[in-house]
Amino acid sequence: MKLFRKDKKNSIPKNQGAAQPTMKTHPDLQVISGSQISRPATKPQTGATQPSPQNITLPGVEYKIAVASGKGGVGKSTVATNMAIALSQEGAKVGLMDADAYGPSIPTMMGINEQPQVGQDKKIIPLVSHGIKLMSIGFMVADGQAMIWRGPMLHKAIRDFLTEVNWGELDYLIIDLPPGTGDVALSLTQAIPLTGAVIVTTPQDVALADVRRGAAMFERLEVPILGVIENMSYFLCPHCGERTDIFRSDGGKNTSEKLGVSFLGQIPIDAEICTAGDLGVPIVASNSDSPQSAAFRDVANQLVEELRNRGPEDELKIIS
Ligand code: ADP
Repeated sequence: MKLFRKDKKNSIPKNQGAAQPTMKTHPDLQVISGSQISRPATKPQTGATQPSPQNITLPGVEYKIAVASGKGGVGKSTVATNMAIALSQEGAKVGLMDADAYGPSIPTMMGINEQPQVGQDKKIIPLVSHGIKLMSIGFMVADGQAMIWRGPMLHKAIRDFLTEVNWGELDYLIIDLPPGTGDVALSLTQAIPLTGAVIVTTPQDVALADVRRGAAMFERLEVPILGVIENMSYFLCPHCGERTDIFRSDGGKNTSEKLGVSFLGQIPIDAEICTAGDLGVPIVASNSDSPQSAAFRDVANQLVEELRNRGPEDELKIIS
């Protein structure tokens, strides 16, 4: 079941990010060095320059969905990229905003190694890869530099991503948050009203404790939790197809039940998922007929179903 905005066409123009003669590199996209970051601000921030909470609306974007995790390395970015592509393959217009300042991996996973251009309207044109419009903190900083960003810089970067980027019309804007409960989630929820957040976890107890912390943060920020996704849930033998629960089974499902939120599904642990991400062509794009890709599609469909159950009916068109 697919869910799109009413009366909008569902195709993303290919190569929308390609350079055009009138474009030049946006000054904000120049690589920022560590010394610039540590330099004291020339003007102290006054109350007047402080952003007021939630004053960005992004009227062209229907669903703004944060992808979060309690800890790093659970596959949050892998899930975000493959889910975005799965939605796009169903005909939805999808943007992917990589707000993981502490480890922006979306450019690598989506096979992008360039900086976006600025259009005549002075807005940054997202790059397009595998049908997805992309922006990443990784496009704006030298390797590793965003690691030392703190509150105000992150806050500005997040707002710029929302206001200075020409996202255009989108059915879904998927936002890859840094792991844990930190400044970026706070800045984002202050900047725009999110449709909700999904939390990615692995099945072990140590990861699940972090899910509960993440869920508590979203509750405090009044962001609806759309569901929990369990990654690296099981291993499918490539020879006999037998399923092995390497860590333990159903931890994500049990935790989502305890939290009273939806369980959106399980993704297997698989060498091809890892390799495909490293090569810049996520598995849903590189091997869409595989059972691994089917698992990502199931999760995307569950998310759509969740949105359908929550969303105002008069704004939705359901294509079965
Ligand atoms: P996070 O965003 O949570 O830090 P990533 O998506 O960057 O995690 O994934 C961390 C590593 O684990 C990457 O090398 C990725 O390819 C790998 N990975 C993620 N999910 C899977 C999976 N289901 N099977 C195999 N490898 C995976």
